[in-house]
Amino acid sequence: MLVTLSEILRDANERHYAVGAFNCLSLENVMGALEAAEELRSPIILQLAEVQFPEAPMELMAPLYLEAARRSSVPVCVHLDHGQSVETCVRAIRLGFTSVMFDGAALPFEENVAASGLVTRIAKAAGVDVEAELGKVGNSGVDTADVFTDVDESVRFVQQTGIDALAVAIGNLHGHYVHTPQLNIARLIEIHEANRLPLVLHGGSGTSEADFKACIRGGICKINVATAIQRGIMKRITERLAQKPDEDYISLKQVMIDASREVVADHIRLFESNRRVQ
Ligand SMILES: [Zn+2]
Repeated sequence: MLVTLSEILRDANERHYAVGAFNCLSLENVMGALEAAEELRSPIILQLAEVQFPEAPMELMAPLYLEAARRSSVPVCVHLDHGQSVETCVRAIRLGFTSVMFDGAALPFEENVAASGLVTRIAKAAGVDVEAELGKVGNSGVDTADVFTDVDESVRFVQQTGIDALAVAIGNLHGHYVHTPQLNIARLIEIHEANRLPLVLHGGSGTSEADFKACIRGGICKINVATAIQRGIMKRITERLAQKPDEDYISLKQVMIDASREVVADHIRLFESNRRVQ
């Protein structure tokens, strides 16, 4: 069933588990992800980032995500990941997304508040939820000093914007880690205690199991996973073609579905969102 972000995260926030938000770029990817969620009786978030539009146009992906969600026997939120402008968020809302992320983390604080607040007012009028980001989540491989989310700023940001979920920067990085990140769990706990809303971890691929568990105990209840799925699917395709170089297209489609299901299932178990749905 299709649900909003706050509906899907309320139970996770109360009962201390996290819902995986999986960036799915193909039919096979979506089918495998939903098979995993249904088998494990887990809620799930399907999401698409604006930087992925060249490979997976939002207008084409939206009907796939939405129909898959409506047909599913588990709660599914359809979410725009990293909307880069107010306009992109409005396009997603019009297409039927039940949640949008506006990413103003690179903006000065007051501009981030203004833009995130505007997206929230528009979204709320349409019954859609909003995630925003404060502090900077770095990119792996790029040597930038990370800027952690400030606790006092987070309180002002949440109050002034009215957002439903906050993406935090606690040393996490986008992409696959070259070095194991040093996550600032103490800062996460402070942010969580100062704000009651659900917190989001970006850059989930490559994080250790122990770090994931610490984040979930510290208040993270949405975890974004993109790179790990792509790597998992590529690994299985490569293995199959090594065994069977003349494998046909339909069989390879099934390999992709199976790989997507397995990678998503592993994350569902890791995030402890399994057996949360009747
Ligand atoms: Zn992100």
